[in-house]
Amino acid sequence: MKTAFITGITGQDGAYLAKLLLDKGYKVVGANPRRSSNGANFWRLNWLGITDQVTLEDCDLVDLSSLIRILTKHQPDEIYNLAAQSFVQTSWAQPLLTGQVTGLGAANVLEAMRLVSPNARLYQASTSEMYGLIQEPMQSEATPFYPRSPYAVAKLYAHWMTVNYRESFNLYACSGILFNHESPLRGLEFVTRKVTDAVARIKLGLQNELRLGNIDAKRDWGHAQDYVKAMWLMLQQDTPDDFVIATGRTTTVRDMCKIAFEHVGLNMDDYVTIDPEFFRPAEVDVLLGNPAKAQEKLGWSATTTLEEMIVEMVEADLKQLSSQ
Ligand code: NDP
Ligand code: GDP
Repeated sequence: MKTAFITGITGQDGAYLAKLLLDKGYKVVGANPRRSSNGANFWRLNWLGITDQVTLEDCDLVDLSSLIRILTKHQPDEIYNLAAQSFVQTSWAQPLLTGQVTGLGAANVLEAMRLVSPNARLYQASTSEMYGLIQEPMQSEATPFYPRSPYAVAKLYAHWMTVNYRESFNLYACSGILFNHESPLRGLEFVTRKVTDAVARIKLGLQNELRLGNIDAKRDWGHAQDYVKAMWLMLQQDTPDDFVIATGRTTTVRDMCKIAFEHVGLNMDDYVTIDPEFFRPAEVDVLLGNPAKAQEKLGWSATTTLEEMIVEMVEADLKQLSSQ
């Protein structure tokens, strides 16, 4: 039985990845950063019904000793570093924390691996935000980076540290450059889930307005359940490498929003208000990924359309709110 260690197991991707690995017969160990609201951060693991099937260890990414302790105890075959301060907007309010967790935290994971588990395989959760002010209309592994937020700068450091540790110490370390991916388990602060939750509330008469920022921004949105499969595939290859994971289609926030409202028979223009509070100091106007390398080398491609995913999310929010 293989053992996997997942940081960020209580997040969207961590929960889906834990489920995928449990289904494959792995023993799954997860990092549990202590929160005062004991257990409230397990809602995604509970949703998937797997809380009792994973081994949770107290662990904060900024505490190298906690990582060393866990790797020594469990000797994982695979390490997935998904933990991060992951919300772009918050990274301007907490730039140093974002640097410590999202940037230096990844260096801590690499150091712990180098010292304790050099034969393990590591996945680092990199992001399309690193392309920021895009240098090519379609972004691939060869496209230069131009980060536009403290979050993206921190992730770029983590990305290059992953590449550097692979080249310096011959570690099996991969950086997955994932474009936006969503699901019913997405945090409510991200625009897709904010929209699907609001649409459900409006439909149920619980809310009558949705305040958004820049709805002209374009993103390449895929489904998190598809994307965690790519993470696992990256660690099953003969040699470690970096991969873009994307759908190859980009859509405005406006059009994504329209899909959600139309699904419940409403017109978004009757409910959406533009609010400067949600504009960012520097915006990433458009992202569009080229997944050709992942298709060719991993045999991976996205299987869920944006329309299918948004409908799934609206339905999940309707169900959840109706049952409350
Ligand atoms: P989430 O925000 O849902 O999850 C983040 C996870 O990190 C949570 O489990 C959180 O714990 C944990 N965490 C935060 N701070 C710490 C810390 N100091 N020590 C230990 N754990 C911590 O993110 P996603 O699941 O959406 O994304 C997974 C990873 O992929 C992230 O690194 C993200 O930046 C990256 N990414 C995501 C994309 C997306 O579209 N979803 C796109 C590209 C990259 P808790 O829940 O207890 O707060
Ligand atoms: P990001 O790509 O990681 O920043 O993911 P988000 O879901 O947070 O944002 C995607 C895009 O939606 C960005 O260009 C935001 O500026 C835009 N956007 C517009 N209105 C909102 C909003 O109200 N909340 C969020 N989170 N994003 C918004």
